[in-house]
Amino acid sequence: MADYIEAEHLRHVRKELLTCTYCGFCKSVCPAFDDVGWDPSVARGRMVLSYGLLNKELEADDSVLEYLYQCTTCKDCERRCPSKVQVVDVVERARRDLVANGRMLPKHRAIVENVLRTGNPYGEKRSVREALGVEDKGAEVGYFAGCTASYRTQSIARATMSVMDKLDMDYALVDEVCCGSVLQRVGWDEGEVADLFRRNIDAIADRGVSEVVFSCSGCYRMFKEEYPRFVKVPFKVRHVSEMLAEKDLDLRPLKGKVTYHDPCHLGRHCGVYDPPRQVIGKVPGIEFREMARSRETARCCGGGGGVRSAYPEMSARIAAKRVDEAAFADYLVTACPFCVNNLGLGKERQGAKLEVLDLTELVDRQMG
Ligand code: SF4
Ligand code: SF4
Repeated sequence: MADYIEAEHLRHVRKELLTCTYCGFCKSVCPAFDDVGWDPSVARGRMVLSYGLLNKELEADDSVLEYLYQCTTCKDCERRCPSKVQVVDVVERARRDLVANGRMLPKHRAIVENVLRTGNPYGEKRSVREALGVEDKGAEVGYFAGCTASYRTQSIARATMSVMDKLDMDYALVDEVCCGSVLQRVGWDEGEVADLFRRNIDAIADRGVSEVVFSCSGCYRMFKEEYPRFVKVPFKVRHVSEMLAEKDLDLRPLKGKVTYHDPCHLGRHCGVYDPPRQVIGKVPGIEFREMARSRETARCCGGGGGVRSAYPEMSARIAAKRVDEAAFADYLVTACPFCVNNLGLGKERQGAKLEVLDLTELVDRQMG
């Protein structure tokens, strides 16, 4: 039986799909295409696949799923595209249509089930506060650590709290659930994703905080860009790099070459480029150098958009290429636990000597 789908979400971007001129400029920047090497795995290919799904000229077979889910949602193609095609929106709509028609990658289904069952993608039964061993208290500032820093790269959550302690800040760890990013990226029903938004907003609003600080670029983007589309956000939202850029930091000198990787969700998606560099610039003695592709043109680490979970080998290969670009440095600093994780895998793969660090780890270390 033919496997055509009802494409309710793609229907709203029919014009957008026709805007792509198939010029192929996106091929020069797409990390997925660079790895796969086939046209279906670049923005224009994904436009063709989406158009085919919308018009029931293409069945939603495994290869279509694969190419639509190999996109890291890095947005680099949109920067490069002369027609300004909203590629990420189209890809995510196509994914929502696939999911609504029962077509989902098993790895993503397992992650969604974990979030719905336990509140985090890793299926951890402990709350964030239990996982990090932090007690509840009231405070002026909320700290939203995010699932990865809470359950996997805990060194980043601990470094962030250590820095805030040293700065004598009145903060409390938010007893959060998943921000919803992973569900939204893989195409899960937005009504259910918005339930997570409401749970987090209620939990934070109950504490009466005036500001929430984020470690994870993905969580930050959600609260900054996506939550306001569905719920009222009654507090100021800041990435930890923005908070630290405004602080007077007393840091010890560090010798060595440092470079910075812009997380796609912080950079291209939210336009935060200067604050992390300003923080790094506060460390006396360092030699800072940009990678060839940085700021708006930064290369993706390969971890986003559900690619890391569904296609781990591809994700690690993309990360390895990014690490290669930083080979001149002693320290590769970034500002997202997920990027730290993925670049760490890239480093292992390459046997690279540099150290991959989150910005908060660098600051905590240099504060002594
Ligand atoms: S750069 Fe834009 S218009 Fe050109 S092929 Fe890619 S998505 Fe289409
Ligand atoms: S968002 Fe990134 S991975 Fe997806 S098509 Fe565009 S450049 Fe490729």
